[in-house]
Amino acid sequence: DLFGKERRNSEGFNLADTEQLYSLQKSLDELSGLSHHAGPLINGKCLSGSERVIVNPANHSHKVGTVAFCGADTVADALDTASKAFDAWRSTNVQKRARYLNNAADLLEYNRTELVSLCVSEGGRTIKDALADVREAVDFCRYYAARALELFDRPMALPGPCGEDNFLTYYGRGVFLCISPWNFPIAIFTGQIAAALAAGNTVVAKPAEATSLTAAACVKLLHQAGIPGPVLNFVPGIGSEIGPLLLRDPRIAGVAFTGSTETARSINRQLAEHADIVPLIAETGGQNAMIADTSAHKEQLVLDAVQSAFNSAGQRCSALRVLFLPHETADKIIELLIGAMQQLTIGDPGHYATDIGPVIDRKALDKLNAHVEAMRQHAGILFQSPLPPELPDGTYFPPTLIEIDSLAQLTEEVFGPILHIVRYSSNTLEQVIDDINATGYGLTLGIHSRINATARKIQQQAKVGNLYINRNMIGATVGVQPFGGMGLSGTGPKAGGPDYLKRFAVEQTVTINT
Ligand code: GLU
Repeated sequence: DLFGKERRNSEGFNLADTEQLYSLQKSLDELSGLSHHAGPLINGKCLSGSERVIVNPANHSHKVGTVAFCGADTVADALDTASKAFDAWRSTNVQKRARYLNNAADLLEYNRTELVSLCVSEGGRTIKDALADVREAVDFCRYYAARALELFDRPMALPGPCGEDNFLTYYGRGVFLCISPWNFPIAIFTGQIAAALAAGNTVVAKPAEATSLTAAACVKLLHQAGIPGPVLNFVPGIGSEIGPLLLRDPRIAGVAFTGSTETARSINRQLAEHADIVPLIAETGGQNAMIADTSAHKEQLVLDAVQSAFNSAGQRCSALRVLFLPHETADKIIELLIGAMQQLTIGDPGHYATDIGPVIDRKALDKLNAHVEAMRQHAGILFQSPLPPELPDGTYFPPTLIEIDSLAQLTEEVFGPILHIVRYSSNTLEQVIDDINATGYGLTLGIHSRINATARKIQQQAKVGNLYINRNMIGATVGVQPFGGMGLSGTGPKAGGPDYLKRFAVEQTVTINT
């Protein structure tokens, strides 16, 4: 149903169906031997560039393929093409734009196995994560298509005095620059583009360097779905080299960015140099906490904390970083947490039974090791899950549990499978919430309490974008948990939420004296 009333999220893949799972595993094993190539896609044509080899983070001797990175000329070409294509795309009727996105959703679903294969071997994501990555991309396409039909199909009639008609209409802004991260190389990459296109913008998409091959596969499917080549241009490249060329260009009318807070600040500074006021939609990091009180159901809490902190090797901006435990129950919960961590299967993300794969690259691994070393000085390393003895040469980091005295000991986001514990006295709960707010981040917060009044109090005081009560705090679902933070965590718009497209649009009011 194109009008969104009957829209349903993708059913995804049934992991409980072992026959289907084994056949997926077989196909993935076969596909993992393929070598891939991608490059810039401008005006529907694949261009050359400086070639880079992409290796599998789980096994550095596995070369996944090569990607041609853009230079300045290609970037200029992309901006020029997207800018020239804007007027025609802005006035392309929204039914058509929505149809292309719905086609794209179907194609993403149809090509799921190939996408999962690339995402696993290039991004180091587990099969489960990669399947969810595809599913979320499908949901974004269908959700934004449905929202665009609701918002853009006809002008919204507004009340006015007799003898006067008033309307409000949404239009695309112009060329949108979409800059996406490697941790959701399918969903976030496709979601940003789908939103920008649905709202009538043309796009220059800059993927994360580490996952350019996966991103290129998504672009090809979007083109195949009907989105014209000049409307969606793809510029793989080194962020520090081509970022400034893209960001300082006067043809850019808006930027959608997901990544670190530090990069968002740098983007903001560069946009400030424009003569125009260029909006930035930023979704950045977090210092995400979970607060348990003495009434928390212990087993549920442990399961949710482990999933929230360690799934995707902790490489989600929503991931849990600091768990606040009351003195009364902390020892017991820590014991249960360690027990659960001993059960995690760490290893090849291309095997369906793996829970935790590698981190993205050597730099990420070094940072995590440096953090643990720094913490050793003034905190207790409670546990590190044992890494299996015969891992290939990849960037594996063991899930780690560290006890610290206070949140103030963490100065920046630690992007990996490290969970910190802080003990607190039940009568200082308010202070705990103040401390969490004082980090300046505001993305996700988990609460584990069976006392409604406590949960409500925390909810009202916490300045976060996404709050989860008595469940895990990752894996926001499109249209169900619109996702995005505040403060240092982002500019606020919620991906997969009802108002997201409006942030990609300009509004025109028309008044007619009848
Ligand atoms: N939306 C994802 C989640 O809820 C996180 C996105 C991100 O890491 O950027 O887990």
